[in-house]
Amino acid sequence: MEARATQMDTLRADKAGAPTLHTHLDALAACRRCADAGHTTLGLPVCGAHAGHVADILRRRQRVMLVGQAPGKVEATGGVPFAGQAGRRLFAWLAEAGIDEHDFRQHVYITAITRCYPGPASSGRGDRVASPAERDLCAPWLAREREIVAPHLIISVGRLAIDAFAGKVPLAEVVGGPLTVAGTTILPLPHPSGASAWTNSPTNRAKVSSALRWLGDWWRRSR
Ligand code: SF4
Repeated sequence: MEARATQMDTLRADKAGAPTLHTHLDALAACRRCADAGHTTLGLPVCGAHAGHVADILRRRQRVMLVGQAPGKVEATGGVPFAGQAGRRLFAWLAEAGIDEHDFRQHVYITAITRCYPGPASSGRGDRVASPAERDLCAPWLAREREIVAPHLIISVGRLAIDAFAGKVPLAEVVGGPLTVAGTTILPLPHPSGASAWTNSPTNRAKVSSALRWLGDWWRRSR
């Protein structure tokens, strides 16, 4: 009887979403899978939402998830996703779409392909890209978040996130507007870090502007 009651409680929590997401975030914060497997990541996992934002994220009529690549050094120190230079550029893009940073952070589940800072690249330019083995270790966290949040829109930011949601296609072919993949709307954006030169081309920048125009319209219609 006790086991049955526990199962019912879990089902209720799943339906409501919020208790399940809080439990998920607690478990993610304690993850040490990469260190246990001998990989070198720096700092603790950067989680996708702060406890105070969970209800607002799940309350949106059309839920949104933003998936980046991995936290950088600034994010690993402060625990807030997109808090560094790449974040400043991302939020400048969103401002171009008429979306305020505070509003976006309050209502969007911001997550990533891997959650721990991989450390600097050996080339000295930018951050190390998490290895396929590290990505595989982290993938179940993102899969579970997708189940719980059930986003109507996934904004995939950068090569790794685009590969994961839209497939391995050239950026020029997928940036510019939304795609529908298995019933979910995906909006690919290039990585906003200064390490990427892709947006330096006027043609590519126009594609980013087109994607942002679509996002701004969608954001205002879907609250
Ligand atoms: S990168 Fe992901 S799997 Fe690896 S320790 Fe961090 S949270 Fe865990």
